[in-house]
Amino acid sequence: MVTEIAENIARIREEIAAAAAGSGRAASEVRLMGVTKFHPLAAMEEAAPLIDLIGENRVQEAAEKRASWTPGLPSCPWHMIGRLQKNKIRRAIEIFDLIESVDSYETAAAVNRIAAEKGLASYPVFLEINISGEDTKGGVSYDAAFGLLDAVLSSCPAVEVRGLMTVARDTDDERELRKTFSSLRMLRDALRASSGLPLQELSMGMSGDYIIAIEEGSTIVRIGSAIFGKRNYNGTIQ
Ligand SMILES: *Cc1c(COP(=O)(O)O)cnc(C)c1O
Repeated sequence: MVTEIAENIARIREEIAAAAAGSGRAASEVRLMGVTKFHPLAAMEEAAPLIDLIGENRVQEAAEKRASWTPGLPSCPWHMIGRLQKNKIRRAIEIFDLIESVDSYETAAAVNRIAAEKGLASYPVFLEINISGEDTKGGVSYDAAFGLLDAVLSSCPAVEVRGLMTVARDTDDERELRKTFSSLRMLRDALRASSGLPLQELSMGMSGDYIIAIEEGSTIVRIGSAIFGKRNYNGTIQ
């Protein structure tokens, strides 16, 4: 039986492939993250074999879901994509395979200290960049990213910066979205040149804007509602 979730994922995979091909890239260069906040475990377990990554915003919710995962069912790597409170960093490192939302030196330094305490050679992160400049959003500014990466490189040997993440403004303005995503790519290129790191990953694009993000170089699209439907923040999941 092909369910609605499977159908949605198949359709999104086709659109990813078309957008990648249209910009001379292979579909395999773009990984599909299912963003599962406020969606039930059953939906996640159904999606997991069909997606590349699971994205959750809150440490507690992710911890409960990971602990309840049906033994034997396939999963995939889990990424933290939400605002990270200082007192949740240890738990986040235990639950998530990668944290995409590092946006301050204090957070990076805490990840470094905890990873070292746990005996990990390194723990992978992305730096979250606030390109749109909205103060409701996490992320460091374009300009501050250079200083942050320098500081992490010189003082946080157990933090491995693999790329950048951004959340674009919630708008239908295609020109603005394209500008946001191309800015993140250009920032990556500039940081790559100044640091010598590969910085392969660009996590950008959500349900409403992932095609444009892929055209601008995204390597991870973070899709919630287009796979799982509307989130119900009051608890009952639709
Ligand atoms: C919720 C969320 C998403 C997914 O949003 P949709 O519009 O439902 O695809 C992606 N990235 C982040 C950081 C999110 O918080």
